[in-house]
Amino acid sequence: MFISLDGIDGAGKSTQIDLLRQHLVAKGASVECFRDPGSTKLGEAVREILLHREDIPLSNTSEMLLYMAARAQLVSEQLRPALDAGTTVVCDRFLLANVVYQGVAGGLNIDDLWAVGFCATGGLSPDATIVLDIDPEVAVKRLQRGPDRLEKRGLEYFRLVRNGFLEQISRAGGQVMVVNADQSIEQIHRQIVEFIDLLLS
Ligand code: ADP
Repeated sequence: MFISLDGIDGAGKSTQIDLLRQHLVAKGASVECFRDPGSTKLGEAVREILLHREDIPLSNTSEMLLYMAARAQLVSEQLRPALDAGTTVVCDRFLLANVVYQGVAGGLNIDDLWAVGFCATGGLSPDATIVLDIDPEVAVKRLQRGPDRLEKRGLEYFRLVRNGFLEQISRAGGQVMVVNADQSIEQIHRQIVEFIDLLLS
């Protein structure tokens, strides 16, 4: 099973992925967690450019294609082999985020992004997509580090992103769930576990 968690930064993805991993391992599953972009040598190098190398100018289209390239590598090098081996995969973001950030909020054509994404992933889509939904103002307050390239775009941009997730989640493939992420860590975890356990049963 391939599970993807998404939502704006500060929504609690890393926190919930870790708890979900522990829950699945306790149930006896073999679990691997990845992040998109990242989790391969190429993906981590691309991630560094995308989030931190402000000295490298990026057009909207080249930015989108870098995300796609990182994802193509993640699928072929990590996701496919793990899924073929029967491992449960939990991924911090996937194609949906690319469509939302660069399409809905960034202005690129949304249908084109889903199509390029299909090419990058070889048609692999999550069996379950969970979006942690939260007001960007609340999410930003949770982040203790300095803003990265994306986060510098401001609250208005993140409102577009938040709405984009709600609008596009139905196209992510598989079963989808939106969780109110402005709840306690434990409350959110319980709702995620209920959803995933039902799918696994
Ligand atoms: P993301 O991976 O979506 O950026 P994190 O899981 O890293 O989010 O969480 C960002 C910060 O918010 C962390 O300091 C984390 O401990 C805290 N946090 C996560 N979930 C909650 C929550 N439900 N309520 C309050 N704080 C949270």
